[in-house]
Amino acid sequence: MDVENIEKLESKIRWEINRCERRDDLQAVRVKYLGRKGQITLLLRSIKDAPPRERPRLGAACNRLKDFLEEQLAAKAEELSRAGEANELYQPPHDPTLPAHDGIRGHRHVISMVLRRMKEIFYGMGYSLAEGPDVELEYYNFQALNFPEEHPSRDTQDTFYVTDDILLRTHTSPVQIRYMESHTPPLKIIAPGKVYRNESIDPSHAAEFYQVEGLYVDTDVSLADLKKEVEIFVQQLFGPQTQIRFRPDFFPFVEPGVDVAMTCFGCLGKGCQICKQTGWIEVMGAGMVHPSVFRAVGYDPDVYSGFAFGMGVDRLAMLMYGISDIRLFLADDLRFLYQF
Ligand SMILES: [Zn+2]
Repeated sequence: MDVENIEKLESKIRWEINRCERRDDLQAVRVKYLGRKGQITLLLRSIKDAPPRERPRLGAACNRLKDFLEEQLAAKAEELSRAGEANELYQPPHDPTLPAHDGIRGHRHVISMVLRRMKEIFYGMGYSLAEGPDVELEYYNFQALNFPEEHPSRDTQDTFYVTDDILLRTHTSPVQIRYMESHTPPLKIIAPGKVYRNESIDPSHAAEFYQVEGLYVDTDVSLADLKKEVEIFVQQLFGPQTQIRFRPDFFPFVEPGVDVAMTCFGCLGKGCQICKQTGWIEVMGAGMVHPSVFRAVGYDPDVYSGFAFGMGVDRLAMLMYGISDIRLFLADDLRFLYQF
């Protein structure tokens, strides 16, 4: 080791520091020369092995080299931080040929998608939108809809009461009453919205879910009109081959009341898993508006007639997409949600 070699090392250090692009690179250079096994560290250590008269000169040269390295590192660090600030201000021009980021994008919830489709169909059939409050008076939810005082659904077992006469609506039918109170026939509305039931939760029962209610009132509205309207709706939603079937059913606010089933879209009536081998799927409850309901809103039942229907949106969505557990709609599981 002699002074000439030390000077060569100086130009090597200058070159290495000059090509550093980041602070990490500078740190690597520092370790390379001044670390425990660094080249300058080893040089300083080896001085004691040199002939005694050369030691002072070598020692001074080594220390100069060490100072030189520190100066160069500091100068380069300063230069890099100035460049860094400049980089933050610099925005590269937009390059439309670069591949797109495969980012996560949100979309409508499956219930919103089905609800939207249903609304589109009904709007196309001349229905307009009506809405009412989720927190409802017992009067609108039950009395005005001809539910007798002792009707089991009035029980707190089935209904969430807020106070004695205020509750979370158990169906969207109170919207019928509110709408008829403030309008005169003819009227043709749908009332979509959330409803609440004090149910024990399982794969086919939820405490909150969506319904779409329909109401048509005019003079001379018949059960045949109801059948035609329902048929148009299910054929638009499930395809033109879909047939419907009416069977007698009971709901306090209609007379007669019917249970509406349609031919299974999975097997077209032959029998499959979706329809539990029956070939039929129940889609809604419906009927002709009960005279007591008309009287409650001040319509003369001898002048007006009308039909009402109501269906569960969650249930329809489950059928359409083959979803087996209603609880998935409210669980925020992205693996489920991103399938639609
Ligand atoms: Zn089937």
